Amino acid sequence: MSVRIGTSGIPAACKGKSTLDGVKCVSDLGLDAFEIAFVRNIYLIEESARKVGEIAKKLDISLSCHAPYYINLASINPSVIVKSKKFIADTLRIADAMGAKIAVVHAGFYMGQPKSQVFELIKNACLEFKSKAKLGIETMGRQKQFGSVDEVARLVEECGNVSPVIDFAHIHARTNGGLKTKDDFKAILDRFDGLGVSPIHCHMTGIKYRDGNEKHHLAISSFEPDFRLLANVLRENSYNATIICESPLMEQDALLFKKWVTNQTKL
Ligand SMILES: [Zn+2]
Repeated sequence: MSVRIGTSGIPAACKGKSTLDGVKCVSDLGLDAFEIAFVRNIYLIEESARKVGEIAKKLDISLSCHAPYYINLASINPSVIVKSKKFIADTLRIADAMGAKIAVVHAGFYMGQPKSQVFELIKNACLEFKSKAKLGIETMGRQKQFGSVDEVARLVEECGNVSPVIDFAHIHARTNGGLKTKDDFKAILDRFDGLGVSPIHCHMTGIKYRDGNEKHHLAISSFEPDFRLLANVLRENSYNATIICESPLMEQDALLFKKWVTNQTKL
């Protein structure tokens, strides 16, 4: 087993508010991964990204970037597609400057178009990007969003520059509570491990959902889904995985999960 665990953004307890402070805080907490969340805009320039990369390398923290949320590669409005591609290209450029292995993207919405057509639109858009960092296409938590496990797996198979981002909470919401057993988690990891994905980049949070759609994030003590099952699967197998915590109790839950992965928990 090789599992790295970290936070999405600067830990809440961190005194400093810069990205560099965030990397140091994650390391001080005993975590080893950090995702920089460009929620609305890409707020780092290449020079500061390079500095972040140097410190992260020294502290052995693996970095990822999350592209802004306002992206839709399948929009029926061409100007939205142009803007979306610019957001992705800029995120990849900063990811490369800091040596991040993956830039996470919410690819888009179906907008009433046939799913097969949306797949082709998104696939062709993905193939346009050239970067050292992989384009991380995330599994999404609403029915109207592109990003089922099948769709993401097919993209990974058909685009050499795409890597999956397995958001277990999104999968749980989209399948209306489908992650119930160790085998449910294992089947997903096996699928991407079988495609040669290493490390498998994952997001973790508890989630409130209704009718196959996510509502909001919860602490992992909500056991929706039960991440103790994932911890056991990771400990008992040889996956190379990175787990980024996005719960409202970000660093506490990241550390709790680390405990679950390290020590067998009775269920
Ligand atoms: Zn995301």
